Amino acid sequence: MNFSLNEYLEELRPLIDVDCGTYTVEGIEFIATQFEAKFAEMTGWSVKRVDCGKAGLGLEIRNKPEADVIDVMMIGHMDTVFPVGTAAARPMTNDAEKAYGPGVSDMKSGLLNIVYAMRNLDQAVLDKLSICICMNPDEETGSLDSVEWIQSVAKNAKNVLVAEAARADGGLVKARKGMAGYKITFKGVAAHAGNEPENGRSAITEMANWILAINAMTNFESGTTLNVGVVSGGAGANIVPEHAQAVIDVRFWSNEEYDDVDTKLRAMLDTPYVDGVSITMERESYKPSMVAGPLTEALMALVEESADELEIAINWKEVGGGSDANNTAILGVPTLDGFGPVGAGFHSDQEYLLLESIEPRIRMLMRVLEKLAK
Ligand SMILES: [Zn+2]
Repeated sequence: MNFSLNEYLEELRPLIDVDCGTYTVEGIEFIATQFEAKFAEMTGWSVKRVDCGKAGLGLEIRNKPEADVIDVMMIGHMDTVFPVGTAAARPMTNDAEKAYGPGVSDMKSGLLNIVYAMRNLDQAVLDKLSICICMNPDEETGSLDSVEWIQSVAKNAKNVLVAEAARADGGLVKARKGMAGYKITFKGVAAHAGNEPENGRSAITEMANWILAINAMTNFESGTTLNVGVVSGGAGANIVPEHAQAVIDVRFWSNEEYDDVDTKLRAMLDTPYVDGVSITMERESYKPSMVAGPLTEALMALVEESADELEIAINWKEVGGGSDANNTAILGVPTLDGFGPVGAGFHSDQEYLLLESIEPRIRMLMRVLEKLAK
């Protein structure tokens, strides 16, 4: 592979210098159009635009669109977390070591690394593999409008590689906690706290009982943790509160334990602590956990072999945050994450991409595919 860092950075720049936060659909389309063109220039690739509703469009890129089985599925997201105006305020820059800018490592360089790997793989390797690359527009807000599509592809896949950035020390991701977010709303009966408090039904008292019950469900040992992160309620000290609301974050390694938590929470809706208070609960986000099973371990061994051969130092991380890897791992498809170049400072103005990691990580991705083709 002939690799020019300068050419790579000039190809990366137009992917960074455009606002493309989730739901900024024109920006997403601008990104998608660039990737469409890159694959159109290569021979043998078909690109399909996928409608992801209010999140805009996704791309499904295949080299054997008629194949029932996909040997390798690769996933990357086109959105960032940054609001409109960020690209103008903080366009891409670089020094001798790093590049900076919104999405530079999370994860435009991951997407571009996939392109470079596909450009440089031997045709003989490509011929042996059925490859599908999915680029979605809404990972940063939980892939709500793309998860169905991603899973419908993944269920035909034998391996999934997600190209989020490798960690600062070169680590890849083998396990990600699951997560769920809830908004719980309590509706009581308002009453004057001086004149007729006995006629009131306190939404805050109900919520307080819930908070204690929710805290009691945490199990630090197994890693199922619940956090009541935001609460609000009440209208004044002299009024029995009619309204209260709590926002909850749940994290877990065991999907069974999480199901248990969900069942308990739903049962609590029907049995309020305070008579006359009603409760509604909305699950606002959900990602199952990604835990490495035997098939995933075999894929890890293949990745380790590839890294060894190329003298690239890698390690495996178990992390608390989710990605699209969670959504494919739950289907039982071996899934690993962190195939982009090294970066850190995600979701902040400290985000950077480590330049010296770009080429080795392209080579590693290529080597993994070469081995999967055998
Ligand atoms: Zn990301």
